[in-house]
Amino acid sequence: MNYDSAFVMTIDGMPVSGAGTLDVVNPATGAVFAQAPDCSRTQLDDAVAAARRAFPAWAATPIEDRRAHLIAAADAMLAHIDGLSQLLTREQGKPHADAQLEIQAASMFLRNTASFDLPVRINERTAERTSETRRVPIGVVGAIAPWNFPIMLAMLKFGPALLTGNTLVLKPSPLTPLSTLKLGEIFRDLLPAGVFNIIVGSDDVGPWLTEHPGIDKVSFTGSTQTGRRVMRSAADTLKRVTLELGGNDPAIVLGDIDVDAMAEKLFWAAFRNNGQVCIATKRMYVHRDVHEPLKKALVAYASSIKVGDGSEQGTRLGPVQNRAQYERVVGLIDDAKKQGYDLLTGGDIASGPGYFVPVTIIDNPPENSRIVQEEQFGPILPLLPFDDIEDAIERANASEYGLAASVWSADEEQAIAIAQRIKSGTVWVNETQYLSAFSAFCGHRQSGVGIESGEDGLLEYTLTQTVVVKRDRAR
Ligand code: NAD
Repeated sequence: MNYDSAFVMTIDGMPVSGAGTLDVVNPATGAVFAQAPDCSRTQLDDAVAAARRAFPAWAATPIEDRRAHLIAAADAMLAHIDGLSQLLTREQGKPHADAQLEIQAASMFLRNTASFDLPVRINERTAERTSETRRVPIGVVGAIAPWNFPIMLAMLKFGPALLTGNTLVLKPSPLTPLSTLKLGEIFRDLLPAGVFNIIVGSDDVGPWLTEHPGIDKVSFTGSTQTGRRVMRSAADTLKRVTLELGGNDPAIVLGDIDVDAMAEKLFWAAFRNNGQVCIATKRMYVHRDVHEPLKKALVAYASSIKVGDGSEQGTRLGPVQNRAQYERVVGLIDDAKKQGYDLLTGGDIASGPGYFVPVTIIDNPPENSRIVQEEQFGPILPLLPFDDIEDAIERANASEYGLAASVWSADEEQAIAIAQRIKSGTVWVNETQYLSAFSAFCGHRQSGVGIESGEDGLLEYTLTQTVVVKRDRAR
């Protein structure tokens, strides 16, 4: 397969060029390196129509067969991992090893999702009547993915939507469309025409998809701001919506941790994928007892990390993915400098090509500072010392977001008790960012609506149907 050019959409099982083209930039160079198709309104209508035509047969296909299709897709991804991951690095910026991990994780997610069955609940079984509640597919799902984990986040929707018997129109971010388009090419021969369609387009295409009367459900991952627009736009046709949105995840680090053993994990909790992770630690509350040693350990570890082009050997952190995000992150650093905050490391933005930002750690900024209150989504971390755990819990919970959090302690029981008091959809103890196809993932408050993954997430791609059978005993 050619991973350098010939990027086309998949509509009704066929390769389709765009009505126009979109430039795709390599964030390590800041230069355009490929053209993606730009979908027209008519092409979107074609994709939705194809998905609607394919729906009855796919919904009627036994789940065992749908399962087999998903496993074949999971295998095919792995067979193409080298080409896909190199392309992912070029468009997203992440180091090649991380791009490979993303594809492996997405493949495993598909495979694990394929292992689910749809539950049938017996409500009543008497001589006169049986009542069963089962799950039926919704119809055509419109799936919208962001640019930080293009393949993984697309597959979080692709797998459950298809296993449950829906058909799909998938829209990756126009900033990172290429690896998803190639994945479409790989999957094209493995699934019936129209069951999945992949379109890419400029800013209009997302709203066209979410308001389209031929789409029955929208599954969206992206920012809270866009999530609100999606929900509004889905309201007119009463589409089902699942929204996985932004976060400002706190970590609470207790005074009993072994700093040497934990510093590296805490570093990656915040800086994995350059902090461009919805569930990255974005505020780190550190008990005063370990504040000084942890500061030193994080700064020392940061100095050992190579930031550079993700395609170069040894790079651990690539560039920020796009110019707008780069400017936002640089703006937050400038604000921290202007306010006179203590930058322990980083902060100096090198001139030159590419959207590179050094790992930046800010010590003890005020709780109401921008870097504490806003979702930075970049390689900057505020360290926030605390003396009293009650104070730390209160500050951790004082956010409009509620995506995830973590608690770090040698005392597991105490850490679990604290975790249960954090107001977020997921709380990890002594790790972060562990996700599984078997666990529900969701945002509380402004971090989302609905659930993704696990059986709860799978069932969001279904409608409930209760079938009641009355038996007349006289007959
Ligand atoms: P974004 O909201 O700008 O874009 C996400 C997607 O929505 C893109 O495909 C974009 O083209 C599309 N889009 C833009 N406007 C639209 C509209 N009006 N209608 C429909 N679609 C539209 O988000 P982003 O900048 O790509 O991603 C970063 C954000 O995503 C961060 O806030 C991050 O926390 C969040 N995120 C959340 C999760 C999660 O699971 N909760 C996972 C990853 C990222």
